[in-house]
Amino acid sequence: MYRQPTATRAEILEATGLNPASLSHCLKRLIDAGLVLRVGELEAKAGRPADLLRLNSEAGYFVVVDLEASPIRFAVSNLLGEIRSRWEEGDPAKAMEVSVIKRGVDMVCSPLSAQEREAVLAISICRPGLVDAEGRVTSVNLGWDRFPFGEKVREVLDKPVFVENAGRSYLLAEHWFGAAAGVRDCIFVEVGKGVGGAIFSRGEFFQGRTQAEFGHITVEPGAPDLCKCGKAGCMEAIASASNVVRQYLDRVGRPGQSVPSLTVNDVIDRARRGDPHALAVTDRAVRALGLGLSYLSAIFNPEVFVVGGYFLGSEDFLLPRLRAELAMHAREWSGSCRVVPCATGSDIGLRGAAALAFYRVLEDPDLLRRLSEPRMRLAPKTRH
Ligand SMILES: [Zn+2]
Repeated sequence: MYRQPTATRAEILEATGLNPASLSHCLKRLIDAGLVLRVGELEAKAGRPADLLRLNSEAGYFVVVDLEASPIRFAVSNLLGEIRSRWEEGDPAKAMEVSVIKRGVDMVCSPLSAQEREAVLAISICRPGLVDAEGRVTSVNLGWDRFPFGEKVREVLDKPVFVENAGRSYLLAEHWFGAAAGVRDCIFVEVGKGVGGAIFSRGEFFQGRTQAEFGHITVEPGAPDLCKCGKAGCMEAIASASNVVRQYLDRVGRPGQSVPSLTVNDVIDRARRGDPHALAVTDRAVRALGLGLSYLSAIFNPEVFVVGGYFLGSEDFLLPRLRAELAMHAREWSGSCRVVPCATGSDIGLRGAAALAFYRVLEDPDLLRRLSEPRMRLAPKTRH
């Protein structure tokens, strides 16, 4: 019911494998609690018309936070990840403190009525950076070095808190609402400040001992491009936004000189206009990505690669090149593998956090009880 706008009992029976009596019992409880709504009837060829059922999108809310965005984005989303109100906060130049999150959460909740506030089930946060085995987060962007973020943020917030890394949040957003809707084997590739993402294999996140870091696959052994990971020649060292700009400046004779106003999008624009230096560095970035993705393709054989970051807005120029590069290295697998731009736009982190929150509520007996207990419900404002 989360995935599709409406469902009939027959569809739910088929999807769940419940027997009809159990399903009737469950649905009665959920309908009485206002969590499931009867929204119409489907004419049947014979017998009674079938009820059209829908999840009540306003039966619960989440506060969702995107720490990867600068300034930090806050929103209130309904159960289905639709954004209800927004707030932005935070100075990207300063180390981020949890008090900023507390204030942002308060601000984004301030337009809510008391009843809506009561229906906020949890706070879900999408964060950048790397987490160690003790749960401490290191993020250059937020000024954190092994910062016990989860612990600290739970001290200041009075609702259950879920935290997930940006790559996984983005993949969830695309899996539930975007270019990989319903796809069980897909890989999200973010090509921006760094190169990273997440892997969905058979409908589950692929997880090693710690967070997987495929941006640091070596694609040019012996290349001079040093990476922040300490190696050289990784996908990230060649294809991240700042590295594309760096290589362009090296080629046009301003090595090491930072030109703050020059962005990766400027370099891509110059490549479009035929600037040979810009073309050379964008081609090199795409070659690095294509080779790296071909390794992932060989191992995970995904149905879709969803690409975000600076590819957005330049997908007409960059994606055909990336597809060709991938096809060259991964012929056997790439025939049916699609490479598509992400579809959830700049709300990707917020929507991913909302999807994560919904997932986690289903796994948490206390929250699930809170969601399904009978109480006053708000009526949906929009049709999903
Ligand atoms: Zn690296």
